[in-house]
Amino acid sequence: VNEIRIDPVTGEWALFADHRYDRPDIPPPEFCPFCPPGTGSYPSEIPRTVYDVVVFDNQFPSLVAAPAPPGIAESDLYRVLWRRGAAEVVVYSADHTATLRHLPLERVRHILDVWCDRYLELGSRTEVEYVLIFENRRAPGGATIEHPHAQIYGYPAIPPRVRQELDACRAHIDRTGACLYCDIAVRESADGVRVVGESPGFVAVVPFCARWPFEVHVLARRHARDLVGLTDPERGDLAELLRRVLTAYDDLFGMPLPYVMAVHQAPTDSQDWEAVSHFHIELMPTQRTPDRHKVMAGSELGAGVFVSEMRPEEAAKRLRATLIRRD
Ligand SMILES: [Zn+2]
Ligand SMILES: [Zn+2]
Ligand SMILES: [Zn+2]
Repeated sequence: VNEIRIDPVTGEWALFADHRYDRPDIPPPEFCPFCPPGTGSYPSEIPRTVYDVVVFDNQFPSLVAAPAPPGIAESDLYRVLWRRGAAEVVVYSADHTATLRHLPLERVRHILDVWCDRYLELGSRTEVEYVLIFENRRAPGGATIEHPHAQIYGYPAIPPRVRQELDACRAHIDRTGACLYCDIAVRESADGVRVVGESPGFVAVVPFCARWPFEVHVLARRHARDLVGLTDPERGDLAELLRRVLTAYDDLFGMPLPYVMAVHQAPTDSQDWEAVSHFHIELMPTQRTPDRHKVMAGSELGAGVFVSEMRPEEAAKRLRATLIRRD
């Protein structure tokens, strides 16, 4: 069964994929399914010994091309989305330890190009109205396999969090005539207190109302709705700045920082999103201190209010200092 239920009160979604219940736990490094065959006794999902970036269908998908019928009927009160979707895995390289920050710049750039290709390909399918590229880094960040990789979900409709951003951007345009994210990029860059790093095409900032410890948003300075809309130099720029932020993350506590990365782009339904979609990447670390995770607790779950012990300006300052220490 594969179904998305929509909460009649909050409009939030819950995706039920009960065939994932038997999914394996994190295998030990010597049994990695993403390492080249012959390096362990575990059967590799990639039957090649040398590879750069590899894309394949998720073996335990949350969204599938031909789902079984939902186990429950829809009603006027309870909406159930039962439509086709897609789930893919993008393995960054054959090297089990090469995270984005460890890969050479041109390889990171190449991964961005692959993301762009998959965004176009999955987005061109009629059943996919939103393509979410994301990375769950390390177990606390939701990863079940340590080998560096991203995942791509093709949703059959625009998910609620993305819808909220698009609606906010449209309301801002109606009020001011300008794109909300364009305004944020200009304001943050001029202000500087929450800036972690800058490049000609992008600015990386701890958002004004950060929810996660050391949360960073990488915003395009120019209004571009997706990876496709970025110029060649801008993509190179993005690869460099993203790698710089991830380096600061790992240097922060002297450990590979667990995080969730989400790439927000224009929906791929038939509507025109040119004006209200502004390309950005959100990085949400799940670690507060070297030995403490951020957990969703009473205030977060009960009221939707995230509680932090560090203000965004201080978090940005610490990330900047980490980068300076390296230079
Ligand atoms: Zn591996
Ligand atoms: Zn914009
Ligand atoms: Zn976003």
